[in-house]
Amino acid sequence: MASVTLEHLTKTYPNGFISVNDVSLHIEDGEFVVFHGPSGCGKSTILRMIGGLEDITAGEIYLGRELLNDILPRDRRLAMAFQNYTLYRHFNAYDNMALGLRLRDLPRSVIDTRVRTAAKFFGLTEVLDRKIKALSETDKQRVALGRAIVCQPKVLLVDEDFARQNDDRRSEMLEDIVAINREFHITVLYVTNNYEEAVGLKKKIVFMKDGKIADIR
Ligand code: ADP
Ligand code: MG
Repeated sequence: MASVTLEHLTKTYPNGFISVNDVSLHIEDGEFVVFHGPSGCGKSTILRMIGGLEDITAGEIYLGRELLNDILPRDRRLAMAFQNYTLYRHFNAYDNMALGLRLRDLPRSVIDTRVRTAAKFFGLTEVLDRKIKALSETDKQRVALGRAIVCQPKVLLVDEDFARQNDDRRSEMLEDIVAINREFHITVLYVTNNYEEAVGLKKKIVFMKDGKIADIR
């Protein structure tokens, strides 16, 4: 089960600032949830705590029934698409997508099947042997998403800075993420401070303000 449950989740920074303040929320398996609110309201902090990039001050995070708090980031069945998706520019698209799987010591045939399936899904089959530096920005972004998907995560976390660069690419990326949610049944948590974008997705929106949930629609 890939539901995500936050119970009284709180983040207080060392300077005393409360960035996330007692947030409780249940996200169903396979759901696509948008977190929306002004800059500084705590959206990224929530994603970073779920991903394990940030310590939790108080509260619990569950993936299905499993308590995530003390599980190492790499052992959480999550994928993260944030701004600093480091693709290796001198490696080709195939190797960039395969990297995470090789680190997990999966058989070569399994890796090959997964990479080719993801490549087909993202329309990357023809560019698999091209180096990252020779790819279009859109294809780079797709390689980054492909690399996340081949690990078969249960949840995909996408922060808004993943595609800040330009509007066309951003809407392509959104279509890709909607397709990932639909085709692979991966639960998606998507963060945006853009109201039109949040509403345009026609998904459940969690409205945040000052570290708290203000409304859910
Ligand atoms: P959002 O993603 O909604 O724009 P963030 O989750 O990034 O907001 O940040 C929430 C708040 O926490 C912001 O006001 C930010 O300034 C503050 N914050 C982030 N990191 C730290 C830190 N290391 N120390 C103190 N405050 C921080
Ligand atoms: Mg943010």
